[in-house]
This record gives sequence, C-alpha cells and structure tokens, in this order.
Amino acid sequence: MLDIENIRKDFPILSHRVYDKPLVYFDNGATTQKPRCVVEKIAYEYYNVNANIHRGVHFLSQEATEAHEEARKTVQRFIHARSSNEIVFTRGTTESINLVASSFTDACMAEGDEVIVSVMEHHSNIVPWQIQAAKKGIALRVIPMNEKGELLLDEYEKLFSEKTRLVSVTYVSNVLGTINPVKEMIRMAHEHGVPVLVDGAQSTPHMKVDVQDLDAEFYVFSGHKVYGPTGIGVLYGKEEWLDRLPPYQGGGEMIATVSFEKTVFNELPFKFEAGTPDYVGSTALAEALRYVERIGLDNIADYEQGLLSYATRKLQAIEGMRIFGNAAEKGAVISFLVGNIHHYDMGMLLDRLGIAVRTGHHCAQPLMHALGIEGTVRASFSFYNTEEEIDILVAGIERVRKMF
Ligand code: PLP
Repeated sequence: MLDIENIRKDFPILSHRVYDKPLVYFDNGATTQKPRCVVEKIAYEYYNVNANIHRGVHFLSQEATEAHEEARKTVQRFIHARSSNEIVFTRGTTESINLVASSFTDACMAEGDEVIVSVMEHHSNIVPWQIQAAKKGIALRVIPMNEKGELLLDEYEKLFSEKTRLVSVTYVSNVLGTINPVKEMIRMAHEHGVPVLVDGAQSTPHMKVDVQDLDAEFYVFSGHKVYGPTGIGVLYGKEEWLDRLPPYQGGGEMIATVSFEKTVFNELPFKFEAGTPDYVGSTALAEALRYVERIGLDNIADYEQGLLSYATRKLQAIEGMRIFGNAAEKGAVISFLVGNIHHYDMGMLLDRLGIAVRTGHHCAQPLMHALGIEGTVRASFSFYNTEEEIDILVAGIERVRKMF
C-alpha cells in the first residue's frame, strides 16, 4: 500500500492553488511533476559539482564525469540493459527516435524498404520516418486496431514482407492507454528477422520494464515523463545494433581522433553523444529513477490501476460520456468527450476549476482520424493522484455539462 499523503509532500507543486482552487493535476501523460529530491539534486550539482565532463583532468571535472557515468549505470539497472554501453543520453523520446530513424535508414534501408508502425503512434514515431522516407524512398506500413483500441495482431503479421526492415511501435498509447503486447509483437518480428524499436514514453513511468526480457533492439523514453527533468532522455540499443549504426551528429565527445583527412569515431555510447551532454540532467534523471524504485514500480502499477478503474466507473456514469480506448490491458489514461461539448471548451472550463487536463489531438492526428474525431479531453494519472481528485473531476465535468 502506498502512503499517498506522504508521497504528495514530496511534490511541493501539488499543494498549489490555481484560481483559488486546489490544483488537480491530471496531465501526467504530457509531463509529470518533480519530487523535491530531483529538484534538489539539480541545485546540488550546479552548486557543488559543475564542470564539463570527460575532458578534464581536474577534480571537479572528474567528479562530474563520475556522476554522469553513474547515472548511466542507474538507467542500465532501471531498464535491465546488459551493459551501460547500451545507454545513450538524448534530449528525450523524440530525439531518440530521430536518431534511430536517421542512423538506421542510413545504414540499413534502401529505396522501397518498409517500416511498420501502428495507427496509435505519437507524431514523434511517425514524422521522423516520413522525413527519411522522403529522402530515401522508404514506406510506412500501419497496424490497424479494433474498436476497443487494441492492435490487430493478425493484420500486423500480414504486413511483413521481404521489404520490412524495422518495426517501430509504442508500448502504451498516450491517447487510448492501450498497453500493446510488445513482447509478443517483438517475437513475431524476430521470426521474420526484423528488429524492433519500442517507444517507452508512456510505459517507463508506470510499469516495470526489462529490455532483455522484451528482447527489443531499441527502447526509448523521456526523463520528464518519469519524474525527472526536461531535456534529458534515453536511447537503449542492443550493443550489436548501436555498433552497426553510424553517428547521428558530429562534434566533440563522439570522436577518438580527428584530422582533416580522417576522423575515427569514439566507442559506444559516446559515438552518439556529440557535444557537451546534459550531465546535470542525467544525474537528476538517475535521482528520479531511484525515487520511483523506492516507491516500487509494481506498487505504482497496482495503485494506478485502482485509480483507472475508479475513474472509469465514475466517468461512465456521466450522461453523454464517450470514452475512447477500452483495451483489456490499459494504462491509467482516459480520453473522453461529453455530448457535443468541444474538448477545448471542456478543458478550459475544467481549468477554471483548478483541474489540469489536456485537450486536442495529443500529437496523434492519424489516430484521431481513425477514430473519426478532432480531439479529446485526456486525464492521465500518476501515483500521487487520489480518488478525491477524481471526484473533483467528475463534479467538474457534471458542472460543465449542465452549462451546455
Ligand atoms: N511517444 C509518446 C507515446 C508520447 O506520449 C510522447 C509525449 O507525449 C512522445 C513520444 C514524445 O515525447 P517527448 O516530447 O518527451 O520527446
């Protein structure tokens, strides 16, 4: 059992008032709030350890380097990678996918080759592939879903051909909450000899992830969605795959030697970390991951599932309520519309009641198109949310509904 009252004390922002109402923060899918230990870690690093890493012989630089490399090991442990060489720090999920899209296409794709994605991808797992597609003449194939928001694995199987080079799918949909059977999907891809990238932006904060058990070739996530700072994220790649890929960007750090005639690239993972990395961000991310580990990912998953069932039950009782995404395996996200009320109107009026929800297409316009809608209101939960807050949301929606 989680001691939510005490956990909430770790997040000073949760006791803020907005428009003189207690803040109810249900926009955790977009970004999570930061516990005090993470914010203090950032201040500590800048006050005590700040120096550019890897190149310095002096005390501070060595200490900062050690902290950055320790952070890499924390990430390795957190997702159970085989080696810390398989952990590349990036700016986030988006940059990680762009890195793979660019380097993988350069190394492994030719005109006419195909990448399989799903209908429920975030734009950041669609557009990077389209940019490469335009350059190299590759094509996207799309896994469809059923009316509950579950991917159709029979259809997925049919998409494989001689031309398939990669599968790139999200673990958890940021709109529908669907937890995709990625382990099974990876197994199926491997039967065709095809590697898989898993977008872990919405899974990493909510469930235990073991990249070796999944057997994914690439797994990516953002620090800011898992209680860490903005501007830092992770690309995990199996060592043999990262070795095969060319660098994404050139500059300092990523080289072994440089002359005007020839440059030799650095070893993993530095080959993919051009320029001064966010060494404060990495240490603060590690602090966030340790915080999450202390609470326990199984406890988090259990508690959030409780919130999801409670909220689903309460929201379904509202007249005119339409919930998008009813997968059997679902994370703590609810996308909805009520009657003919526009999602922006609902979001803006809930905001005046102190309730932060997200409205719009959630960077998943192809999914909105498949659902035949323009957008939804989305409430996404964290372990620091409570049933009382859900009651406030339900009362808020009822109030808005009566106004229309
Ligand atoms: N993928 C999914 C499923 C997401 O939900 C998000 C963000 O909402 C992203 C990718 C992009 O993450 P970021 O903006 O942190 O790079």
